[in-house]
Amino acid sequence: MNYEPIIKGNVKEFSVKPNLLNYEEARESFSWDDIYKELDGLEGGGLNIAYEAIDRHAKTSLREKMALYWEGKDGNSKQYTFHDLYTLTNRFANALQSLGIKKGDRVFTYMDRTPEIFVAILGTLKAGAVVGPLFSAFGPDAVKDRLQDSGARILITTPGLVATVHEIAGELPALEKIIIVNRRKTPYELNENEVSYERIMESASEEFEIVKTEKEDKAIMHYTSGTTGKPKGAVHVHQAVMGHYATAKYVLDLHPDDIYFCTADPGWVTGTSYGIFGPWSNGISQVVYEGGFSASHWYGVIEKYQVTVWYTAPTAIRMLMKAGEKVIGKYNLKSLRYMCSVGEPLNPEAVVWSVEAFGLPFHDNWWQTETGCIQIANYPLQDIRPGSMGKPFPGVTAAILDEDCKHELPPGEEGNLALKSGWPSMFRIYWNKKELYDSKFINGWYITGDRARKDEDGYFWFVGRADDVINTAGHLVGPFEVESALIEHPAVAEAGVIGIPDKLAMEVIKAFISLKDGYEISDELIMEIKRFARKKLHAVACPKEIEILDSLPKTRSGKIMRRLLKARELGLSEGDTSTLED
Ligand code: AMP
Repeated sequence: MNYEPIIKGNVKEFSVKPNLLNYEEARESFSWDDIYKELDGLEGGGLNIAYEAIDRHAKTSLREKMALYWEGKDGNSKQYTFHDLYTLTNRFANALQSLGIKKGDRVFTYMDRTPEIFVAILGTLKAGAVVGPLFSAFGPDAVKDRLQDSGARILITTPGLVATVHEIAGELPALEKIIIVNRRKTPYELNENEVSYERIMESASEEFEIVKTEKEDKAIMHYTSGTTGKPKGAVHVHQAVMGHYATAKYVLDLHPDDIYFCTADPGWVTGTSYGIFGPWSNGISQVVYEGGFSASHWYGVIEKYQVTVWYTAPTAIRMLMKAGEKVIGKYNLKSLRYMCSVGEPLNPEAVVWSVEAFGLPFHDNWWQTETGCIQIANYPLQDIRPGSMGKPFPGVTAAILDEDCKHELPPGEEGNLALKSGWPSMFRIYWNKKELYDSKFINGWYITGDRARKDEDGYFWFVGRADDVINTAGHLVGPFEVESALIEHPAVAEAGVIGIPDKLAMEVIKAFISLKDGYEISDELIMEIKRFARKKLHAVACPKEIEILDSLPKTRSGKIMRRLLKARELGLSEGDTSTLED
């Protein structure tokens, strides 16, 4: 653990008074019931995330406040007030009902970060349905797995992406309708089961009575990868908004006059919890940039909209470091007052660099798809120990448990990072996978799958994953998914996939394969297998490197030993190989 240099948290340096003034006191006095009281709830009882994010502000003096500043990747921009989003989401909820959507049905989005994705997600929640946002970078198999597993009845997508859905449509019996958003008016002829977003929105009423949802009704699902099997759908309920609201207020330190910029896509939980629900439940104006990473575009957005609070991820920060300070010098970034990071370990150098480059440190925080909201964080007023994830959120209890997950370990010892279950935004099920869900809880602790340490002063330090899951540029990738995709190629006999260190993305994916008889090793074959994998997987899940071996190391029971592949690749000790097949 590296305590040096400590970056001092000092109230005098803040242009606004932080929302969390005393961490220890906040831990004593915090109660989720008090947070619940700060929300409105539905008239006549019940709770709905979309109501807390939009409607309650549309009824107050915030009605004409800008909720969304949208910056398109082609230079177009658009602005929406809370009232605009109120009427648009009402229209969308009406349109869904007219298509037969009922409470609890699954509605998925598969599109880029255009304003319609926000309307679709929030409108779906108003209609009482469960929303599942998918990355637009997904290939057909990734989309198919998620739509099949969830039994989604409606998918919202665009003319540019719908060809992917057409490829798999025959294997999606539950999918009844596809809503096509055609913001750029691309010539496109609708198929029989397709409807135009623009047309259904035009004919839908602006008035909608939100379907009565309760705290524990299912609201949103995000698929996340594990070591074995296909990705699983972690489902969150409407009271998760208590977690989004409280952590956006106390960790992201959002204040009424802030202009907030979150770079995450809604396909990842950060893009919904903190790209939609957290800021808007606090009535904050936010900027959304449609495009992906670009140092100059991001700085341009910060300058143009006078962004004050910025939430991004370590791979992006490392890419900003690589882009250098010269490009920073071209923009006026003085509006920034607070910056946070999540998704992967944030290198101490990146924290120190950010102080040099922006005059402000990135505040790292830790959480997962399953936890729904930030669990461990660096707060504005606390000293930062670069490399540490910070301390548990006041409403959360975190601990380091021993190998059996029965006892807490003393400070300094590495073990399993666990959270006392019971916070409002905790996932409630893995869709259709009860046993797997139950296996994550031991003695009232949720076992996160991460290894970590706690120091004497209560700061948590990330060590690594307890399983084979690979974190590449902040995306969790299960090796099994990639291996399954690879062995579908006619030339591939077996595949073993590992993460290897990478300066920018933390880890990238390397695949080892052996070939079926009759196939010869060649660069063309490797390229073809890479292209094949790209069609099946998310872009980031595709192997950067493929190495062909005569055969892969296996246990006597026939399991490919990824651990051994990794040890050999990195030149580490091979450890216990007693189960290795002869
Ligand atoms: P996801 O569910 O895709 O958001 O991924 C969650 C996982 O990302 C965690 O279990 C960690 O392994 C990793 N992660 C998230 N935030 C951090 C962080 N601040 N430091 C280290 N690892 C992190």
